[in-house]
Amino acid sequence: MKVAVTGGTGFIGKALTQALLTRGDEVIVISRQNSGADRSRSGKSPRIVTWDSLQHNSASLNGLDAIVNLAGESINQRWTDSAKSRILNSRIWAAEQVAQLAKSLEQLPQVVVNASGISAYGISQDEVFDESSPTAVTDFLSEVVKQWEQAADQIPTARLVKLRVGVVLADKGGAFPLMALPYRLFGGGPVGSGDQGLSWIHLHDIVRLILFCLDNDRISGPVNASAPQPVCNDEFGRALARAMGRPHWFPVPAFLMRLLFGEMSTLLLDGQRAVPKKSLDYGFQFLYPNIDNAMEQLVGKHQPN
Ligand code: NDP
Repeated sequence: MKVAVTGGTGFIGKALTQALLTRGDEVIVISRQNSGADRSRSGKSPRIVTWDSLQHNSASLNGLDAIVNLAGESINQRWTDSAKSRILNSRIWAAEQVAQLAKSLEQLPQVVVNASGISAYGISQDEVFDESSPTAVTDFLSEVVKQWEQAADQIPTARLVKLRVGVVLADKGGAFPLMALPYRLFGGGPVGSGDQGLSWIHLHDIVRLILFCLDNDRISGPVNASAPQPVCNDEFGRALARAMGRPHWFPVPAFLMRLLFGEMSTLLLDGQRAVPKKSLDYGFQFLYPNIDNAMEQLVGKHQPN
């Protein structure tokens, strides 16, 4: 398969690129710069092209089977007005660029997997969302996701997958090392009420799920990229504490989080529970379906087969 990956230099994109190269796919990373992607375990590297170069000449991408669009400004920064506009506009821009690229090819790509977020369902403490649940706008992130998916809907392709991604966990990179830090320092505990939902997925599983979506022509539309057993913040912390052999006792009040992180504190204080009904219905099997076996791997007690 010939696959273009935008954001292929990022946390998920690097792992995906490696997995694609390892199984023998041809990978082109589309980036703002001409460097930054890793060589795979098989010793192969992806070809890197810049968005700018594609404006003038996209012929080298003819014959593309698939595009995975992961590009977007990081949300892990203080949400000033200018950061919020970069977070939103970079995602709309990337989806528009992918649409232009798809149109410029001799043949449309068979599949486009566009990243999105579990925030599509809005914030809720009690509900459990699958792909048939209505979307809702309750906060900044859910508004971003709404506009991001609307932009993705304009990408011409035989099959569009909107991958609604939960919090991606890996021992290095992403949110997990920071979440684990207070526990390493014996100061872990629930954040805010601790009841807020946390839909999570292990990095190995999201990479496998993207490959599954690329390969399975029956899958299209929204796909929740989150483990079958979402937890609440308190359960997450307890599982982390158990795996690390550390206490879970130091509650962090919501007002302190708001003071420290401003509006971005919503990432920890609010949430939602989503389940991956569509991928399970199509037979996808998670390596890490529950938080305890994910934690064991993340803190180094268990390696996958
Ligand atoms: P990263 O931040 O690690 O990587 C995103 C990539 O996007 C970067 O490598 C960069 O590629 C490109 N990028 C960064 N800023 C901009 C910008 N201003 N304009 C255009 N491109 C930009 O993200 P992740 O790998 O963690 O996530 C991939 C996607 O999945 C993101 O869109 C994210 O919102 C979404 N997601 C991730 C979650 C997670 O837990 N990781 C949870 C929910 C959603 P380059 O420099 O090569 O151009």
